[in-house]
Amino acid sequence: MMPSCKKASELMSQGQDRALGTLEGLQLKLHLLICQRCRRVTRHLGFLREAIRRYRDGN
Ligand SMILES: [Zn+2]
Repeated sequence: MMPSCKKASELMSQGQDRALGTLEGLQLKLHLLICQRCRRVTRHLGFLREAIRRYRDGN
């Protein structure tokens, strides 16, 4: 299931406060693969690298 940009941005903001769950992380990564606009946002925030680090550390 492909999350919308709205859902993706929710996940991004949640990911700044806590580690995302497995499904959430996958949904966000999947969305970022196809959505250049959101990818630019995450790059600007420096979010993705941090999220992936937390995602790995949390598992
Ligand atoms: Zn998007």
